[in-house]
Amino acid sequence: MTTVITRDNFGLIAGPCTVEGREQLLETARGVRDAGASVLRGGAYKPRTSPYSFQGLGVEGLRLLQEAKEETGLPVVTEVMDARDLEYVAEVADMVQIGSRNMQNYTLLSEVGRMGIPVLLKRGLAATLDELVSSAEYVLKEGNRDVILCERGIRTFETSYRFTLDLLAIPALRELTDLPVIVDPSHAAGRRDWVLPMSLAAAAAGADGILVEVHPEPDRAICDGAQSLALTDFADYADRVRRAAEMAGKEVSATA
Ligand code: PEP
Ligand code: MN
Repeated sequence: MTTVITRDNFGLIAGPCTVEGREQLLETARGVRDAGASVLRGGAYKPRTSPYSFQGLGVEGLRLLQEAKEETGLPVVTEVMDARDLEYVAEVADMVQIGSRNMQNYTLLSEVGRMGIPVLLKRGLAATLDELVSSAEYVLKEGNRDVILCERGIRTFETSYRFTLDLLAIPALRELTDLPVIVDPSHAAGRRDWVLPMSLAAAAAGADGILVEVHPEPDRAICDGAQSLALTDFADYADRVRRAAEMAGKEVSATA
């Protein structure tokens, strides 16, 4: 995976927050592929604040991700929350996401380290950069060098948006480690109209990629619809973000 998104190569990871069904996923996968995304995202196991919220389609979601991957040729990243699911997730995923809430789940980190599968590690909601790097070390220590770090917003006193996007994490992490650093503006903003400006800022600041939520019908999304870009807007969004990355001196990769 770190051949698609590297310190030199900028890439877009795009897709729905959660896999909801076949049409939703395949339509999104084709759309983001055609607009030049490098990787398809989609959650089959979802970490939800409330245990009564939709928790993801689980193995059925993985099966749909496999289908989307076969049809589009896009590599897939999906979250794993429990080491007991890892075997099934790794059969489909080209990269596993360790979500913010699991950033300090050290047994899970060691396990994905031993498995040798590429890892997308998201910063915890209240984690320092040193703590994020230490978590990455758990994976690296097992001999797995394929780790991408992701800034996704942290909790501060500010309540006007979902989380505070910490853009200084980009140059700071690039100094602290040699791992690629990407940004997820969707979960920080919580609102789709704030996703483009934060993506441009992140790309201009030297991010190695952007992870962004996209949905064919955001207003009907089961999860995170308010922050999801409409699929019809994605091609224009992707063009503009790639131009910002180029301005920052990046090579821009696109599978399409
Ligand atoms: C996600 O990427 O869908 C997600 C739940 O992210 P985070 O762990 O950053 O909240
Ligand atoms: Mn989400």
